Amino acid sequence: MTTLDGGAPRRLSLPEGQSVDLRLVLARLRDRGPQAVSELSEELNVSRSKIDRDVAELVRLDLVRRGGPTPSTGGRPSRIVGLSPTLHFLGVDIGATSLAVGLTNGYLEVADFVEEASDVRRGPEPVIERTIALITKLTKSIDRRTVIGIGVGVPGPVSFRDGKPVAPPIMPGWDAWPVRDILSQRLGLPVTVDNDVNIMALGERHAGVARGVADLLFVKIGTGIGCGIISRGAIHRGVNGCAGDIGHIRVRESTTLCHCGRTGCLESEFGGAALARRATAAGRSGESLFLNEVLTEKGELTAEDVGRASVAGDPVSTQLIRDGGQLLGQVLSGLVNFFNPLMIVVGGGLSKLGHLLIAEIRSVTFNRSTPLATSSLSIVASELGGQAGVIGAAFLASETFLGTVWQA
Ligand SMILES: [Zn+2]
Repeated sequence: MTTLDGGAPRRLSLPEGQSVDLRLVLARLRDRGPQAVSELSEELNVSRSKIDRDVAELVRLDLVRRGGPTPSTGGRPSRIVGLSPTLHFLGVDIGATSLAVGLTNGYLEVADFVEEASDVRRGPEPVIERTIALITKLTKSIDRRTVIGIGVGVPGPVSFRDGKPVAPPIMPGWDAWPVRDILSQRLGLPVTVDNDVNIMALGERHAGVARGVADLLFVKIGTGIGCGIISRGAIHRGVNGCAGDIGHIRVRESTTLCHCGRTGCLESEFGGAALARRATAAGRSGESLFLNEVLTEKGELTAEDVGRASVAGDPVSTQLIRDGGQLLGQVLSGLVNFFNPLMIVVGGGLSKLGHLLIAEIRSVTFNRSTPLATSSLSIVASELGGQAGVIGAAFLASETFLGTVWQA
């Protein structure tokens, strides 16, 4: 059996009774960075002497370290406190075609990151085995007992309470497979499992373009299409863990069968596979000479090829991207009217199709939503790219540690 180092991990449990305040202090430092004790006291609305006691307790637990004094402002001198450098979290982002693992510090800044091609359809055993190998590699140079917890995202619906995927359409063999319990047993650490789009939304909210935004949607356009919903600062998962599964909203009449068994779904009309399929048809028929050349040379076309062809001036590829942006914009306008978010972040592999796609999505969404719902809305591209997932997964692990996770 592989464990992180064969030794027992550092067990951290906050003392009973006063633990709520200690958690607030830790969450504040995680989200805002090092702060003066006086600032903490003010912002948490707790007396200075109480904060001093909390900080002393956190220092004793080696969760917090004291820094130097703050510049004098004439009042009582205060000291900066920050999270201990011995705190680490691990974020794992299992995608349909990729596997990414990141090691972060207590502020969830990525210290080390590795990403490789992977196929989730191979089933849980080989993917989890590879995940453990990458974790072992990433934690080689640190004291492994300083890893507090692991967050994991998987590309399908998840029972958050049970830590397992539930009937995930593109993950054969994973249904009800105990991802959380097996990883936790193997590595001897607490593990929290969620849907990949949810962790990406959390990542962008903690460290990316949606920093501090309380009501937002994160739309991932990759092999599949999904949406993470953050409402009043918390993930909305729904009763069965499948809230935000927008890929199967019907967008038009079509004969193409979606893997869900229906036709005309957003995902089967504009996911990565759909775009590649349309491009291949346009290349084969000679409708696009550009795509025809690439197809002849490579034998197949991907969504990235469509992006490159569009940038190179191929009008057919540009139209394919526009068409996809319109379908997505149509769905998003419905969501905007329904949910009234402050921000929509667009991420995932296909978001690399660039400005053209975002512009089309924006145009349709703003045109079709009510003026009040869009008066403060912004639609932006993901800032963290491939790291959004691991940062969000690490965030989830830190929430589990702080014990503030909403229990379904
Ligand atoms: Zn479908």
